[in-house]
Amino acid sequence: MKFDIMTLFPDMVKTVLQSSIIGRAQENGLITVSVHDIRDYTLDKHKKTDDTPYGGGKGMLMSTQPICDCYDAVCKSLGDCTKRVIYASPRGRMFNHQVARELSEYDSIVILCGHYEGVDQRVIDEIVDEEISIGDYVLTGGEIPACIIVDAVSRLVDGVLSDKECYENESIASGLLEYPQYTRPRVFRGKEVPEVLLSGHHENIEKWRLEKSLEITKERRPELYEKYMEIHPPKVKKKK
Ligand code: SAM
Repeated sequence: MKFDIMTLFPDMVKTVLQSSIIGRAQENGLITVSVHDIRDYTLDKHKKTDDTPYGGGKGMLMSTQPICDCYDAVCKSLGDCTKRVIYASPRGRMFNHQVARELSEYDSIVILCGHYEGVDQRVIDEIVDEEISIGDYVLTGGEIPACIIVDAVSRLVDGVLSDKECYENESIASGLLEYPQYTRPRVFRGKEVPEVLLSGHHENIEKWRLEKSLEITKERRPELYEKYMEIHPPKVKKKK
């Protein structure tokens, strides 16, 4: 899977995505992340990439020409693969596991990171398939949202995590929030690991984990709990 990120601050994105699991996934050729500096494409002799908004107002808007020329270069490099072009934006569809799954079906994801007051609307009309928001708050730029999207989608690509179970059993993907987890030592500051986890009895461990997941989900995310219970109604014991 290929990700192309168009930004005015390439180092912000590179620093984050070259580390840990996503960095290793690139080294192993499972995903490719190319970061494109929009400033490299400006035709302005002072390397300007933004301008004041028509109609007045505070702040600067990223201009059409450098972004669209950068996009044309990205498209040339991609050839005919299936692609989705995203503009990271607080106006967009809310990002979640389902959206990550949808995006993981494409060969290539192109992400435009806005900065300052955002981008000229004509850029969106011209090149963007969809605006995606990572939450109801406003950040200074689209670089962190781009990293979040790349991270969440990459985890769904075969081979990026060592075992498929790693994400299928996790919070949200499983339909529930995750049960509590423990590692060594057995006692820490007087707090003990629940006995059942030390029992080696796999059926009881699975039962305990499901009970805890249901408990936590019911308390913290009642709407997820309801949905899960609709799909997995409790089994009623038949009277003899
Ligand atoms: N003036 C814009 C508005 O009111 O919608 C906000 C611009 S914001 C300061 C600068 C850039 O950060 C945006 O163009 C977008 O790319 C990115 N951004 C900010 N918050 C975001 C969010 N919640 N989700 C995705 N991208 C976001």
